[in-house]
Amino acid sequence: MIRTRFAPSPTGYLHIGGARTALISWAYARRHGGQFILRIEDTDQERSTLESERAILEGMSWLGLTWDEGPFYQMKRLDRYQAIATQLLAEGKAYWCYASKDEIDALREAQRARGEKPRYDGRWRPEPGKTLPPPPEGIAPVLRFKTPQEGTVTFDDLVKGPITVANSELDDLVLMRGDGIPTYNFGVVIDDWDLGITHVIRGDDHVTNTPRQIHLYQALGAPLPVFAHVPMILGHDGERLSKRHGAVSVLQYEEDGYLPEALLNYLARLGWGHGDDEKFSMPQFVDWFDTANISHAPSRFNGEKLTWLNQQYLKEADDDRLAGLVRTRLTRMGVNCDHGPDLAALMGLLKGRVSTLVELADATHIFFVQIEPTAEELRTKCDAAGLDAIRALSSDLAACEWTTDALNAALKARAKANGLKLGQIGIPLRLMLFGTAQTPSLEATLFLLGRDETLRRLTAALPHADVILSA
Ligand code: GLU
Repeated sequence: MIRTRFAPSPTGYLHIGGARTALISWAYARRHGGQFILRIEDTDQERSTLESERAILEGMSWLGLTWDEGPFYQMKRLDRYQAIATQLLAEGKAYWCYASKDEIDALREAQRARGEKPRYDGRWRPEPGKTLPPPPEGIAPVLRFKTPQEGTVTFDDLVKGPITVANSELDDLVLMRGDGIPTYNFGVVIDDWDLGITHVIRGDDHVTNTPRQIHLYQALGAPLPVFAHVPMILGHDGERLSKRHGAVSVLQYEEDGYLPEALLNYLARLGWGHGDDEKFSMPQFVDWFDTANISHAPSRFNGEKLTWLNQQYLKEADDDRLAGLVRTRLTRMGVNCDHGPDLAALMGLLKGRVSTLVELADATHIFFVQIEPTAEELRTKCDAAGLDAIRALSSDLAACEWTTDALNAALKARAKANGLKLGQIGIPLRLMLFGTAQTPSLEATLFLLGRDETLRRLTAALPHADVILSA
């Protein structure tokens, strides 16, 4: 049984890179009929917040990245780490190091000055024939791992292929801090082992930790999982993705009017491919997914492509679903859509014309609240002949049958009777009804707006337009 996990630290929101890692880990489990586990790595007490944790869970749920077990919390497992620490100590595989922070800083400084890579020099590492000084008073020791000094460690990364590191490159890792809280490398190994994780899939910023973790697995006699390190996501300019590049939080994309399936599709396609396919559903992705097709190079985030995908998904989204999403947005803006056009029917009319739910809500809003056109627009887009025609059209509309065909015929007949082109009525009419000339076809918008509201709006707008045009 394949078991994968996502193990975020609750020290910030769920960002695009984290979501992409979670998606790949999730898809791998789903692809192989396995299980996907969520673990919150909350040992950084200073930076972890409940708010971040909530944002991560909310982001995962919004994306539909459902987990089968968890969330597990590291801070609830301190006894377990302590027990393993005691065991490693008893087996001579770990030792107490009493070097103070100042001492370690000075050591690093001196190494850097000599042009060496900073590393722990093993001063408290017990060796046969070596006499250690007596432990100093008042220092809470850290527990260090006795890393093998000879030989190499090799693993076959599912994405990057075989990786070998010389043990001489690795110094003695801190397992437990003076306060009894495990370091990332220690906690992660015990947790992945205890949770029976078979495939550790994570960002490739962790690839250098893996050889150290492998030593720990071996010291514990734990079976090694398979490792897969997924390349990072960079900004469009090749720099590390940051707020400068626009939204980086998954929930910000929700806020900005993206559909979760569009973001998922985009993230799945980022640095992974199945031929030229750009648009695919999650079941399709799960079916196609193979770590062999993950690109080895970091991918660049392209907001335009995401927006394009969002547009495609909006176009084909279910009208009732969109109506619910838009209703929530409009309610938040203080717009009541309980009275007025049928929201789902409006979605059908408008969804093909927008790229985000924000735009969709904007386009919908004007059906519930009458917006006054600016004087500038009225002056440039209307004339007295157009207004006369609209006044007459008001009476036509009071009597005509309320179907799109009849409305279309009424508009054409009025233009003809007044010797105008359709646009000469259409544009001022839109301005008067909606405050903007950008709306879908008039017969469809009038039909949905309804006779009463159409006539009410015209009655309110015509005197205002008269005043502006005659000034
Ligand atoms: N908490 C680590 C992080 O957020 C997890 C790394 C891992 O998956 O092993 O980067």
